[in-house]
Amino acid sequence: MIHMETGGSPAVAMKNTTLAPKSIIIQKFGNKANFEVEEVQPAENGCPGLAISQKGPCLYRCILQLPGIAVMSETFKKKKDAEQSAAEMAIEKLGIQISTNRPTLQEAWDKLVDRVTDLFSNEFLSSLHPLSGHFRAVLQREGDLCGLIPVPVMAICDSKLSNLCKSINPKVESNPFLVVPLIMTAAARSSGVVASSEGQLWIRRQNPYPPEIMESSVSQISGSPRSTFIEVIRIPCSLEKTVEPVTLDVSSTGYYMDVIARKLGLIDASSVLVSRAVGKASSETRVYFAAHQSYFLDTSSDPLNVKEALHFEGSLNAMASYLGGQDIYGDAILASIGYKWNSKDLFYEDVSLQLYYRMLISKIPSGLYKLSREAVLTAELPSAFTTRANWRGSFPREILCMFCRQHRLSEPVFSIVSTPLKGLSESPKSHTKLQGKDSTEEEIEHATGGAIATGASESAESAVAYQCEVKIVSKCQDWIIECFPKNSFKKQNDSIQNTSLKVLSWLNVYFRDIDMPLEKLNSTANILNIRICHENFFKEFASCRSIHNVYHSETQGVKFLEPNSMSMLNTMPGQGVFSLNIEGPDSGVCPSNGSLLFISYSVSLVTEDEHMKEILESSDEFEFEIGVGAVIPHLEAVVTRLSVGQSACFKTDLAPKEFILAAAVDSARNFSLLSSESCCLEYSITLLRVTEPLEDRMEQALFSPPLSKQRVEYAVQHIRESHATTLVDFGCGSGSLLDALLNHSTSLEKIVGIDISTKSLSRAAKILHSKLSKNTDIKSAILYDGSITKFDSRLCEFDIGTCLEVIEHMEEDQAYLFGDVALSSFLPKILIVSTPNYEYNVILQKANLPSQEDDPDDKTQSQSCKFRNHDHKFEWTREQFKCWATELAAKHNYSVEFSGVGGSADLEPGFASQIAVFRRMSLPQGEDHPKDVDSADHCNVIWEWNRLTSSS
Ligand code: SAH
Ligand code: MG
Repeated sequence: MIHMETGGSPAVAMKNTTLAPKSIIIQKFGNKANFEVEEVQPAENGCPGLAISQKGPCLYRCILQLPGIAVMSETFKKKKDAEQSAAEMAIEKLGIQISTNRPTLQEAWDKLVDRVTDLFSNEFLSSLHPLSGHFRAVLQREGDLCGLIPVPVMAICDSKLSNLCKSINPKVESNPFLVVPLIMTAAARSSGVVASSEGQLWIRRQNPYPPEIMESSVSQISGSPRSTFIEVIRIPCSLEKTVEPVTLDVSSTGYYMDVIARKLGLIDASSVLVSRAVGKASSETRVYFAAHQSYFLDTSSDPLNVKEALHFEGSLNAMASYLGGQDIYGDAILASIGYKWNSKDLFYEDVSLQLYYRMLISKIPSGLYKLSREAVLTAELPSAFTTRANWRGSFPREILCMFCRQHRLSEPVFSIVSTPLKGLSESPKSHTKLQGKDSTEEEIEHATGGAIATGASESAESAVAYQCEVKIVSKCQDWIIECFPKNSFKKQNDSIQNTSLKVLSWLNVYFRDIDMPLEKLNSTANILNIRICHENFFKEFASCRSIHNVYHSETQGVKFLEPNSMSMLNTMPGQGVFSLNIEGPDSGVCPSNGSLLFISYSVSLVTEDEHMKEILESSDEFEFEIGVGAVIPHLEAVVTRLSVGQSACFKTDLAPKEFILAAAVDSARNFSLLSSESCCLEYSITLLRVTEPLEDRMEQALFSPPLSKQRVEYAVQHIRESHATTLVDFGCGSGSLLDALLNHSTSLEKIVGIDISTKSLSRAAKILHSKLSKNTDIKSAILYDGSITKFDSRLCEFDIGTCLEVIEHMEEDQAYLFGDVALSSFLPKILIVSTPNYEYNVILQKANLPSQEDDPDDKTQSQSCKFRNHDHKFEWTREQFKCWATELAAKHNYSVEFSGVGGSADLEPGFASQIAVFRRMSLPQGEDHPKDVDSADHCNVIWEWNRLTSSS
């Protein structure tokens, strides 16, 4: 008789699963539930048409038909929302009790028996299902094995079966074997449909399939069998033995499980156990291993109480268990193979050593980050999140979520606390709980680096500060790690990213030194405002310990690269770097903290005698932010000594083996090189470009509101006063001015932007597009890709032209050219031009970034940064600017006035940003502006938007 357990553990597994309405309906009605989604045309007069996408947003509604009733949902933007809504309506109508939906143990057993019976039906054999492929394959076996289905594959191929098993015995989560006694018991209860084996792990259909079913489903292969070679990985049980590639030779008539079995030293597939999928959820990569002798139990014993028999001290395969997240014993095979949902063909992918090592390093935060950047030996998880724009690779929040998935934890729970800044102190503080959790944090601290600057409460939107807490919990909702930083941020997203990064940084510290004493564990956590529940933490990460210990012993004698740490910025340049060789002339353009750098690089494995050299990783263009530890410290130390155009070559000690092999395509070859010779890594890098956000940072640090904002506001004010209806922004960049204009009501009807950077223009287009649909005044907007120094008739005769911080980005003669073209051909009634005041730079430099003060070797850098931005070709004094502007004005019959923002006109050294406002006095005599030269137009329309009136 079957042992029935009521309450207790089965319920625990289900405790936290809240099913979506649609899942409830499907669970209850199966294929009798018919969800039909239809497109609904939005009302004709709905929204004004957009020039670039004529199609309005599509709406969907869902009609759900169930036996006896049908419901229709409201309309939704997303199909799945419509379906969920319809399901919800049906649940309400039918009065389905959601809580009683969980099957009782008895129900689960009954369903399990039904499902097993179904799987052995005639219909199932001819259906396309990952499991029916196994059924067909075993029917092609010859002799005694014909038709014997290995029980372990049944649960991994059929989720219904595995879910039922889970609800009967939640322990199957950690031990894949435990499904076997459950399915065997169910088979024994199948009223003669299924025959089970005595002391074996297979079952089969009691009576043979009818011949016509056999004929149509199991196609006998004629001719000589073909071979398919599939690369897999053998993970030996002993951590001392090496992981190695193995080739499976699967013939077109054979059963792949038998081939795997033989590689494991078994006779056939019936005693092979299979893990859950490893890595991505959609993956078919699984670990295969031999069932232990004592698994061969007789079915009369209690199917739920096999636990005692399952302790095989010593034979646990720590590495495979770590990867698979389940207990795996003995030698194991890692393979990506199975049958498909949509065809009868065997599906497989080679699992290379590289892939294996990538899976391994994706268990730790820095590994996840390195993989997201495709730069395993070069990138490091940065220790600081400065701005969204400077971050490369997966964002901290994403990485934290991936990490939790990798370790089979629940999704992290973020809680946001928003607090009004000063001036609005009476309004109540609001809490946003992204997933539960209350917060009692009252304090707002002004943090550095992307966080809130004091006195920045100039507009309503920045009057709120966000703090983010995060909690990492196990699948059973036991808390493991909590992080509650005090920093506040103007943007909610920044607070989430920063908190996530803190947790990731700490986890990295832990994984680097997994045996660190408890005090150190606590003190490193404290610095980052992290609390750990030791008991739960060590329970969840117990298996990591054995694995990472092995790395330490494995690489004994080989020095580790110091991975990313919070003390990164203190790394002495040159440390751990040898044979450094810098080539090329010093261009004077050097990176400094906060710069975005572009490098090309290659990393090779070289033997000491340089006899052998294998390229492991390379990139033609790799971009990263400097000063936050976004690359290995050695590279950062070297690159800060380079100027644009220079190359460097240097060597370092080996990185940990798993990183090297995760980077290398030809792992096997490097593997032998690594184990036989004394090697080191050789990096070759060239500094291609530097994008310098220094200017922005100085402007933000020194001015409130930031200088860029003041410039824009200055222009907006002039635009409003002028009552202009048309505007062209020369060198509009990412559209900061055009964007700001849409926040104000102006008389403008047409706005145009032109720039040579298509990257910036596409950013501008995105912003404008989303804003214009809400703005009611503007009738048309165009963005052109083209140079402002060349004539284009479509830029002529605007009421106002703006050119903010652009001329210094071109050579001086081009700046003169622009002035001439603008005032002789484009002829705006007003032209506003701004550019940095070079004389103000001393003040900016004195107040320079704090991070640069830390580094005594940095002097050369700040000196070489003559201009505010490395892309500046010149920066003019007040005198030079005045000279340029007055000459132009006189030549083209304009008046000019000087002004500026940041600082004051009367105080030395004048404004930080100097501004000239040109006004047209009269049109050039004798000719209207030259409309007839359209053929010379050179600009390309990159994006265009028109507000269509309802009559047109
Ligand atoms: N006006 C913007 C962008 C300033 S940055 C703002 O205030 O935010 C300078 C911009 O000038 C860059 O986007 C660059 O692509 C653009 N630029 C430089 N030379 C140009 C040229 N010859 N024609 C058009 N745009 C140019
Ligand atoms: Mg500039």
